[in-house]
Amino acid sequence: MSKSEQLFAEAKKYIPGGVNSPVRAFGSIGGVPRFIKSADGAYIYDVDGNEYIDYVCSWGPMILGHNRQEVRQAVVEASKNGLSFGAVTEVETEMAKLITEMIPSVEMVRMVNSGTEAVMSAVRVARGFTGRNKIIKFNGCYHGHSDGLLVKAGSGVMTAGVPDSSGVPEGYTQYTLTADYNNLDSVRALYESNPGEIAAIIVEPVAANMGVVVPEKGFLEGLREICDQNGSLLIFDEVITGFRLSEAGAQGYFGVQADLATYGKIIGAGMPVGAYGGRREVMSVVSPLGSVYQAGTLSGNPVAMSAGLAQLEMLHANPQWYEKLNEKSEKFFKAIGDILSECGKPYSINHTGSLGSIFFTDREVKNYADAKTSDTSAFASYCNYMLDHGIYCAPSQFEAMFISMAHTDGELNHTLEVIRDYFKR
Ligand SMILES: *Cc1c(COP(=O)(O)O)cnc(C)c1O
Repeated sequence: MSKSEQLFAEAKKYIPGGVNSPVRAFGSIGGVPRFIKSADGAYIYDVDGNEYIDYVCSWGPMILGHNRQEVRQAVVEASKNGLSFGAVTEVETEMAKLITEMIPSVEMVRMVNSGTEAVMSAVRVARGFTGRNKIIKFNGCYHGHSDGLLVKAGSGVMTAGVPDSSGVPEGYTQYTLTADYNNLDSVRALYESNPGEIAAIIVEPVAANMGVVVPEKGFLEGLREICDQNGSLLIFDEVITGFRLSEAGAQGYFGVQADLATYGKIIGAGMPVGAYGGRREVMSVVSPLGSVYQAGTLSGNPVAMSAGLAQLEMLHANPQWYEKLNEKSEKFFKAIGDILSECGKPYSINHTGSLGSIFFTDREVKNYADAKTSDTSAFASYCNYMLDHGIYCAPSQFEAMFISMAHTDGELNHTLEVIRDYFKR
């Protein structure tokens, strides 16, 4: 029995499913989750002494690669002064100021502890600001696990065997309307049947929790226009795309501005951090300035802020890193597409910047319904082969591959070889 097998058996006695977040259980690909001991650069190492080129990157945060010395040092230094004070600290303002410099549409920002919390709070702000209750979300987009957003959600919910979650009263989701990704008509129809009632549209500007689904030309611009015509706010959930597609996230990458945006993952450099921000006028409804209540005992934690700040400062100082990352990622994903056609596979690869996924279906994947036609057992076989050959990909068809700035051509080319070997068999 491997050490991972032993540890998983032990974990299952005390933790539901042995994990603190469902996808980690490897339920949709079978097999035993690898217990990780350490990580460095593009690699992670498990307790059995195996090394892997890592395409999960902690689900995004490690855009600079694992265990960056500058980030680690910032954490060590900050922790020498104490871990938390529950009072204001200077580093919170430094963090907020840097975020507003990096993202033009964000004039004010509030720090929280996770992406879930960021989205939940942003939706509350949108409702408080507009005085309306209803929101529109897209089928297959994941916005964290808060009650009102667990409707046709992606990510682990897609493979959990239930469409949504039990324990969420119907009343909690009655204000959540759902539309189809890349389908502006489905959004317009909701406006027609709910005139004057929609506070906000929330969208993943690149959907990355039903696998990667790219916004078609005009989709994000169309949402912007619909919001403007109807007095609704546009919320970009940039928990994945933020600080990844560009310094200004998807807003910078696509040139579409949101009224509110939510952040997580990269913003904390591996520490539990989230944030939501937007126009000054909108953010001014947040307590204690305004009447929308939102708080957090550990929000703006100085150690977490120092980690995030160290990472964001490096990204801000080196905008050319994004060009390089996006360029090498594009080359990599295109090469996967070439391998698929060379091997006569009908599958497709969707990608934007350093996010991509292979869909094990012969359909072009533009929305949730398309994504769901994927052959998840074919994916499972592929994913396990990759693991057995030292490549760590997200253990689900409906997640993204993340590439970091630490992935060199050497690692990417080696990965392509393993992918080719698999599809050639
Ligand atoms: C991960 C994710 C969330 C939730 O963030 P947590 O930190 O896991 O709570 C929300 N929205 C999107 C788009 C995400 O990818």
